[in-house]
Amino acid sequence: MMTTREQKRVALVTGAGSGIGLAIARRLVSDGWTVLFADRDFAAAGSACSEAGGAGTGSRPLTLDVSRREEWADAVQDLRDREARLDLLVNNAGITRDRTVEKLTDLDWHQVIDVHLTGTWLGCQAALPLLRESGGAIVNLSSEGRHGSFGQANYSAAKAGVVGLTRTIALEQARHGVRANAVAPGPVDTPMLAGVPEDVVNGWLEQIPLRRLAQPAEIAAVVAFLGSEQSSYITGQVIAVDGGSSHP
Ligand code: NAD
Repeated sequence: MMTTREQKRVALVTGAGSGIGLAIARRLVSDGWTVLFADRDFAAAGSACSEAGGAGTGSRPLTLDVSRREEWADAVQDLRDREARLDLLVNNAGITRDRTVEKLTDLDWHQVIDVHLTGTWLGCQAALPLLRESGGAIVNLSSEGRHGSFGQANYSAAKAGVVGLTRTIALEQARHGVRANAVAPGPVDTPMLAGVPEDVVNGWLEQIPLRRLAQPAEIAAVVAFLGSEQSSYITGQVIAVDGGSSHP
């Protein structure tokens, strides 16, 4: 049986219209959270909210391009006006523009950095006042690719940057009761992998001790834990969810 306080907890999940974000939002709805399904694609966010059982529970879709400061300001004002609190921010939205370093264009570089790294920074900065009021938490999506990933210099640099950003926020905000952690998945079975050639995926599978891709719900379970009171003494950490690929 949940307490009234738990029933009222509010989470904002970016990129909730697809893949891992949808799985995170679905998991939080089933755990009793009120979830804002934020995505730059409002139609996808709306379908995701219905599909995840959010309709009628207070959960709702929200249009948000995470790379735009003014859209974060609007989203936080909307939260203040309607839910009047925020307990968990999940910075999950992402894109890829894969090319080797020599072929990478300025546009490929900036688009990926803008969404993953700048978007995560803008979201944390905009949401911190509300998170401080509730003693809330931040979970940022990094990736196994933070250590370097063939054809993904832009993505790898962004995901390494997310780790430094997360750790710094954890250090600065601990005194204010806000925790910040990152989750670093290996390959996950989502639309983001749709364009990856089969032989590349098979090469990955040979390197993964568990010999399979992660399911989005397996990432969502870790995010839900890091957003809950059960992880109240964990901050500034990067949790690898990669089937055993990485060393501690
Ligand atoms: P996905 O492509 O299935 O979904 C990404 C979602 O983000 C989409 O709904 C899209 O509309 C939204 N989005 C894109 N740009 C946006 C923006 N500027 N503002 C708001 N929303 C935006 O991707 P996914 O596989 O679910 O990936 C989710 C996160 O997990 C990403 O940060 C990704 O880097 C990370 N990740 C994925 C994998 C994987 O193998 N799929 C592995 C490690 C990390």
